[in-house]
Amino acid sequence: MQLTLWTYEGPPHIGAMRIATSMRDLHYVLHAPQGDTYADLLFTMIERQDRRPPVTYTTFQARDLGGSTAELVKAAVAEAFERFRPAALLVGDSCTAELIQDQSGALAAGMQLPIPVVALELPAYSKKENWGAAETFYHLVRALLADQVPAPGSKRPPRDPARRPRANLLGPTVLGFRCRDDVTEIRRLLDALGIDVNVVAPLGASVDDLRRLPDADFNIDLYPEVSRTLTGWLNRSFGMPATRTIPMGVGATRDFIAEVAALAGVDPSPLLGGETPGAAGRSSSASRQPWYARSVDSTYLTGKRVFIFADATHAIAAARIAAEEMGFTVVGLGCYARDFARDVREAAARYGVEALISDDYLEVEKAIAAAAPELVLGTQMERHIAKRLGIACAVISSPIHVQDVPARYSPVYGFEGANVLFDSWVHPLVMGLEEHLLQMFRDDFEFNDAAPASHLPAVAAQTMAVAELGMSDADDGPAWTADGERELKKIPFFVRGKARRNTESYARSRGLSTITVETLYDAKAHFAR
Ligand code: SF4
Repeated sequence: MQLTLWTYEGPPHIGAMRIATSMRDLHYVLHAPQGDTYADLLFTMIERQDRRPPVTYTTFQARDLGGSTAELVKAAVAEAFERFRPAALLVGDSCTAELIQDQSGALAAGMQLPIPVVALELPAYSKKENWGAAETFYHLVRALLADQVPAPGSKRPPRDPARRPRANLLGPTVLGFRCRDDVTEIRRLLDALGIDVNVVAPLGASVDDLRRLPDADFNIDLYPEVSRTLTGWLNRSFGMPATRTIPMGVGATRDFIAEVAALAGVDPSPLLGGETPGAAGRSSSASRQPWYARSVDSTYLTGKRVFIFADATHAIAAARIAAEEMGFTVVGLGCYARDFARDVREAAARYGVEALISDDYLEVEKAIAAAAPELVLGTQMERHIAKRLGIACAVISSPIHVQDVPARYSPVYGFEGANVLFDSWVHPLVMGLEEHLLQMFRDDFEFNDAAPASHLPAVAAQTMAVAELGMSDADDGPAWTADGERELKKIPFFVRGKARRNTESYARSRGLSTITVETLYDAKAHFAR
């Protein structure tokens, strides 16, 4: 075990809490020491839930360890059932409780409650939060559907053509990234294709909703970190296919529409028209992103160096958008979950970079510093890292902070999601550019408060005078003055070499013997024309 200040993921029981808290009538009894209730804050403070998570803690203390902590488990299960009257109960151990081996799940199962009791075995020392969420979701559904699984080898009957196709949206949870709004966006797409949503789960679902999952024709694997284990089982057991495309970005949304339409047997043209799937062309008018990214105002985006580190789903999708739709250069790609390392490695190979698979934020910080990107797309950990390094950053994935749960509608999936991503990735760069210009020109006469608007004639005359001043003491070879050098050092390191070369060639072309601060700015103005 490694002690650390920050982690990308909590222990697996936090994943189980995410499933319980996402649903409406599920309760979780967690065998855990005093102090573990800290986890409630993740949901009430970060996710801004207006109620405590549906979790009862056994809250054993050091003095309880001498007696029977098993009795505490039974008492907590009985109390939770009486008080909350859930439709199903999850029971499991936190990391510390795992060590005392009370078998809390088995104890609860033996209590003969009149509701399904799902015993969770989540190895806290080898697995993490997302895995815990995926396992919990899978075991819960499996327990609820146990009596509906068809005999092995039986064929799923074809859909009655008189009925509209139906899909389940699987994987959205609390503490996921923008799940609430992504679901709305995907619902809109499905509606436009004539596909009904059967169940959304776990977010907002009831236990009875989970029993209805097999009524859908196929599953949409929206957040594979949480839903892929379940959709795999539903495919094997009920013959329900699942989507593979994550609809993030214009190209991927169009691919997703094509994939969903094929699974549902419907015509994709209401959303795709006659266009080629995957093409983020200008005519993909459902989103402003393709045109904005190509507009003259965005030309400074071309070739921007971007480092991406997130959960696998968002990291892989973001890399495609960055490279294919924004015109950025991907200089780093990685994820913190080893379970999805293979997918990320495959994606990284497409961009000619080596995937970084690590849950050590210090290692990630080193890799970012070495790659010297102009933009970091990451989690809230990378937001801190980028801030320390003075690099622009946008958050694209959990783990998140409170500001990543916005009050406004803010999906990242679908066509509207592409608009949101354009704004949130590009604005930090615009701000970075503005900040840089303001810094460089802070002493310029046009940038002090007393300066009149630059289009007025008086200013034009002043500009001429300054330009002439800069050229007045011409000599043979250009040498940097101390002030000039100092100013040059304020330019970000990745463009400093170019600024030095341009200024020297400008000075030489004008026969200047020294390069002052003014020469530097004159050169900049000259090359900017
Ligand atoms: S049981 Fe695990 S999560 Fe809870 S306080 Fe101990 S180490 Fe932390």
